[in-house]
Amino acid sequence: MHCPFCRHGDSRVVDSRTSDDGTSIRRRRQCPACQRRFTTIETASLSVVKRSGATEPFSRDKIVSGVRKACQGRPVSADDLALLAQKVEETLRGTGSPEIDAYEIGLAILGPLRELDEVAYLRFASVYQAFDSLEDFESSITSLRAERDERAARAAVDATREGSGSRAPSSGTDAPAADQGARPDPEPARD
Ligand SMILES: [Zn+2]
Repeated sequence: MHCPFCRHGDSRVVDSRTSDDGTSIRRRRQCPACQRRFTTIETASLSVVKRSGATEPFSRDKIVSGVRKACQGRPVSADDLALLAQKVEETLRGTGSPEIDAYEIGLAILGPLRELDEVAYLRFASVYQAFDSLEDFESSITSLRAERDERAARAAVDATREGSGSRAPSSGTDAPAADQGARPDPEPARD
């Protein structure tokens, strides 16, 4: 980068250290032209674009406080919330984009919150997705139920197959269980 003093087009790193929390690196640089020194700070950029158009740095604390209200009275611990915020950050960083719409953050919260607590999920979704009728709740609950039934059915299949770890196809087709048995049996064949 340019020297901030003389605008020389190059600089030399004379020292670099990682911050205590490991999220940034400070580099001490020296300009080869004027010999003056300056500092740069490097972080993995992740900022949130608010509806107003203003941006602010992503904050896990804000995720936690945003979700905490929906979790009131529910069996959700502070550790659960911290883990959820971590998952959300990983999802958002995974998009590779340095700027995230506030709306996308809500979306990234819904998945892990649903796994954590269905009631908290419904509360959060009702505010975030602006439910304005009983039908909105109804369809959301219906999809939660369908998912739960699917999970239960899958668990039952796994149980009858003695935990072989096979997964039922996620498509809507009702593949007969026998079709999944094409895999060779791990037990040695008897004569
Ligand atoms: Zn310089």
